[in-house]
Amino acid sequence: MFTDFDAIDKKYKEKSVGERLGRATSSDLVTTTGVKMREFEGGVICWSPHAGVHVVFGEIRDRWILEGGVEGSLGCPLSDEIVAADKVGVLTFFENGSIYFSEFLGVVVRTVLLKCLKLHAKVLAGSDKKIATLVRAAATVFLPYGVDVKCLSQERINIPELADVDVGRCRDGIVTTEMQRLFDLRDGVGEDEIAFYCVRSTDRPSNGCGLSPRDQPSVIVVVGADRWSLAHELGHLLQLVHISDNLRLMFGGGTSNISDPPPDLSSNEANTIRNNRLTHFC
Ligand SMILES: [Zn+2]
Repeated sequence: MFTDFDAIDKKYKEKSVGERLGRATSSDLVTTTGVKMREFEGGVICWSPHAGVHVVFGEIRDRWILEGGVEGSLGCPLSDEIVAADKVGVLTFFENGSIYFSEFLGVVVRTVLLKCLKLHAKVLAGSDKKIATLVRAAATVFLPYGVDVKCLSQERINIPELADVDVGRCRDGIVTTEMQRLFDLRDGVGEDEIAFYCVRSTDRPSNGCGLSPRDQPSVIVVVGADRWSLAHELGHLLQLVHISDNLRLMFGGGTSNISDPPPDLSSNEANTIRNNRLTHFC
């Protein structure tokens, strides 16, 4: 049987995690609230029923422990270590705030809470691996700005004629009949949650389309598009507009031409996303 401590073992075996953590320095610990932990020389792996398994490293770990750890003011980790928006520091989100660390600024506790975009994948074309890659890439873009991207469910849809979907001009703001047929396939998608349709192609050819009726928030992404395309179309859905800066997510010249990935957001863009009704507290 797979136990919560197996989840901790699995996290330890992830690329570079075990290497940075080094030797275990504690046995398996269980708190009064049912959170399970194992301590290592370089950090802690923590599992909780609501937040899953995450690792807290180094200086951030030290400060978190100083704040009381799992039972302190910050609570359980909600993320692993993330490269911060300044691309210099790193940060980890907890239930009640985050801890940032860079050599330059040292350790900083912040009170901004993590928010989440809740996606449901409706797969007309593409492998599970491709879906996971797109979702992970979208989380990589938005997490430094305090927004996680979660895929809550995944469903295969076998309607061949919709796998190549007519999106018209998309940017014109007109939902075509075929787009509407897709958007009506919304089983299991809650109010203010996002349906993510992965298709084989669009007509006109594009990487996707982030336009949908207000009461059916959706994005369409073409399976062959590059990995930032889901994040880009989510950007459109969340009211961001194209810009000419090729370091940024909303670069209008195609996500495959973005330089120095992961792509950036401006602070205005980040605020727009965090304040959108589709962005929930996690
Ligand atoms: Zn676009």
